[in-house]
Amino acid sequence: KPAYEIAVFPGDGIGPEVIDSALAVLNDAQSRYGVTLNYTTHDFSADLYRRTGKKITEADMDAIDDKSDAVLFGAMGLPDVRGPEGLELGAQVEMRAHYGLFASLRPVRLFDGVEGPLKDRNVDMLVIRETSEGMFAGLHDKHEPSDETASDRMTITRANCERLFDVAFSQARMRRKRGTPGRVTLLHKSNALRSNVLMERVFDEVAAKNSDVESTKFYIDVGSMYMVTDPKRYDVVVSENIFGDITSEIVAGIGGGLGIAPSADVSLTQGVFQPSHGSAPDIAGQGTANPIAMILSAAMMLEWLGDQHEDERCTLAGQGIQAAVEKVLAEGPRAKDLGGDAGTQDVTDGVIAALATVGVVTA
Ligand code: NAD
Repeated sequence: KPAYEIAVFPGDGIGPEVIDSALAVLNDAQSRYGVTLNYTTHDFSADLYRRTGKKITEADMDAIDDKSDAVLFGAMGLPDVRGPEGLELGAQVEMRAHYGLFASLRPVRLFDGVEGPLKDRNVDMLVIRETSEGMFAGLHDKHEPSDETASDRMTITRANCERLFDVAFSQARMRRKRGTPGRVTLLHKSNALRSNVLMERVFDEVAAKNSDVESTKFYIDVGSMYMVTDPKRYDVVVSENIFGDITSEIVAGIGGGLGIAPSADVSLTQGVFQPSHGSAPDIAGQGTANPIAMILSAAMMLEWLGDQHEDERCTLAGQGIQAAVEKVLAEGPRAKDLGGDAGTQDVTDGVIAALATVGVVTA
């Protein structure tokens, strides 16, 4: 593709600050790797809601329909801006519904220079959480709990499992280009839950069709323990919505902090790439936010575009940015949340300077 259309949603708090950093790094990578990205910026924010009573304008929602190849999101929400039900405002639910996103991707790598709780530094895994059904789909059930009994339902469908596992195997293949083993592990509970019996059966079928990638399965209980005690068992890990909700947080804990944890929500054809952190109003406007989670999310976007469009320039640009971030984490400049004193701009400049030295990373 000659150019990719990227919809950019800076959001609230530190969202716009880290988006500026990611765009600066992407702009540098574009010329270096021969990739063209066109951006259109849209407002989807608690701040807009405070001013107008709407989180996003209809014109903006229409404008992003089908026109963008990928979405970059900063962070949204402000604790003091609440909707009619008294709840905080987010974008995740609307984004997932609007784009039909059903898988949430949380990669974790233990980089040199970053402290984490694990002694075993050999961690490089991607946790995929299903986000459209499973236990959380029960939230849409009409039935009200009484004061004596309440229940939730775990619904799993074949069609959704098939597309979920397609994403998992294609991610394993994509990651393998930079040296990971190419392995998908299902974490499930088919010894106790009927829904998971179906999930496991479909997993086996999809695994058989993707026999170039290794596949393994563990029960979610022992599988969660291995995440902490023996993480090198894992490359890509996939599971049901509520199990994935929990395993994604284990991964966030292993990874050394919110400031460096990227994420994405994807369907087979669309992806929203954003840091795992929120709008951090406590540090907004100070120029101290760590931009690395956002920069790594932008790198994930490039790798994903490379995979979607079979465009090696994008893949190499994504890998190059990751290598530059790795260098900055090891050698500095180091942001405040990682114990250093560098500001957002210093870290951004550091990544851009490192990008010039990493050269083209080859597969
Ligand atoms: P948060 O992730 O914004 O902040 C938690 C803590 O981590 C804060 O102390 C913050 O300063 C720090 N932190 C987060 N990102 C950082 C970074 N890049 N660099 C340095 N420090 C960083 O979570 P919160 O405080 O619970 O929520 C704040 C707001 O963000 C709320 O309105 C919440 O609803 C919203 N939120 C949005 C998203 C999203 O848009 N995806 C996710 C989580 C929370």
